[in-house]
Amino acid sequence: MTQSHAMIINGERVEAAGTFGVIDPARAEFFADCPAASPEHLDAAVAAARKAFPTWRDTVIEERARLLNEIANAVEADKDALAVLLSTEQGKPRASAHGEIGAAIHWMRETAKLRPPVEVIRDDEKNRIEVHRKPLGVVGSITPWNHPVLIATWHVMPALMAGNCVVIKPSSYTPLSTLRLVELANVHLPRGVLNSVTGEGGIGRAITGHPGIDKIVFTGSTPTGRNIMSNAADTLKRLTLELGGNDAAIVLPDADIDAIAPVIFAKSFGNSGQTCAALKRLYVHESLHDALAEKIAVLARAAKVGPASDPASQFGPLQNKAQFDLVRALADDARANGGRFLAGGEASDEAGYFFPLTVVTEVTDGMRIVDEEQFGPILPIVRYSDVDDAIARANASENGLGGSIWSTDIKKAEALARRLECGTAWVNDHSSISPAAPFGGAKQSGIGVEFGHWGLEEYMQMQTVHITR
Ligand code: NAD
Repeated sequence: MTQSHAMIINGERVEAAGTFGVIDPARAEFFADCPAASPEHLDAAVAAARKAFPTWRDTVIEERARLLNEIANAVEADKDALAVLLSTEQGKPRASAHGEIGAAIHWMRETAKLRPPVEVIRDDEKNRIEVHRKPLGVVGSITPWNHPVLIATWHVMPALMAGNCVVIKPSSYTPLSTLRLVELANVHLPRGVLNSVTGEGGIGRAITGHPGIDKIVFTGSTPTGRNIMSNAADTLKRLTLELGGNDAAIVLPDADIDAIAPVIFAKSFGNSGQTCAALKRLYVHESLHDALAEKIAVLARAAKVGPASDPASQFGPLQNKAQFDLVRALADDARANGGRFLAGGEASDEAGYFFPLTVVTEVTDGMRIVDEEQFGPILPIVRYSDVDDAIARANASENGLGGSIWSTDIKKAEALARRLECGTAWVNDHSSISPAAPFGGAKQSGIGVEFGHWGLEEYMQMQTVHITR
């Protein structure tokens, strides 16, 4: 596939002098060239966003909402081509790419319904005190490679609804679907309101230190989040950081394993495990451990892993070589430490970053496969005997994105779920999210939240107005 992929700066397509190659992970081969932004491109994008800001800020919110809905319609009309681009660069099967784009369209329409509140704190014959929310200015968005279209939507749409202008930089592994998304949006948006820059290496860092940018919204790994936080300190940028997770799920002795096995399977292996709030550590009571592990392994062994181009594929490859190498190293480490593989465990020799869906038991805390975020299709199942101990182990992590309890006793499960130290807790589910409910990480899984009015307000500055009559 050769296409001309361009950045959008001030409403214009911009092809840089330099390019970098984008790899199809199902073949481990380059399939397209992407523009490599220079520092001047970034300056031009920020200048365009700053110039567009006063008019966009003062545009009535209903008009901004109307444009978001226009963008949703445009993405809907282009979804087949976008799904091909997304699945080719990301690796996910075509149906999953359609699922991601469908979710993005849904989020755009739901985000268009949000309105920032004006709160009245005091109102009497002497004084009135109001709290307003105002946009921040220019938002820099930096996205990862696992769900590039959806995460770009999560960053860009609330930022625009709040009245900000945006410069987005997608992951250099998956830049093309974002370039297309920004191009589609720019048919409807005024010039400069939404700009894209692509590049490897330093461009993300240049964004986080840029004096013309007021806020960074970042989704990616915790180490990069730390780096961004320190780099943004000089200009005191506002930050929303959605970082890594190592979500634990705890199955209580009264759980219905026939009912939960397919759900746990789907929540662990969806997108080949490359989801921030995927179920990544499964603690199962000893009375159910062997039976539940086998049920999940049966599903893993039956799953069809293959390229996006094959309609039979249910799961794709790892997105990139580094992630593939990490998953393989974690599997090898588990094997060396006595892990028992009920499914998968060894990469095949075929081209592409394919790793089979892998279920490993006889592993425990203190081993890499349990302690580290795998971000891949490998699920460690850990046996426990005491539920308080399982909760303590679930919480003994620097991460705190999500967690879940699985039981037929909903009341008990809910009480335990609320003891989990994480931003979202589920009962008999995992990783499900809603555009109306806040989502974010506790501890080192992030700062701030996305979605709903809470997410919108992350793109706004409060202004208190005191009126003396
Ligand atoms: P990553 O941190 O390697 O990269 C993310 C983005 O940051 C990319 O666009 C990259 O180019 C850019 N970047 C890298 N170094 C930078 C720097 N110094 N300054 C500025 N930008 C920089 O993450 P990834 O490997 O793309 O994504 C996987 C990680 O993302 C996992 O840990 C996963 O859990 C996490 N994630 C979290 C959420 C969430 O909502 N909490 C969602 C998806 C993914």
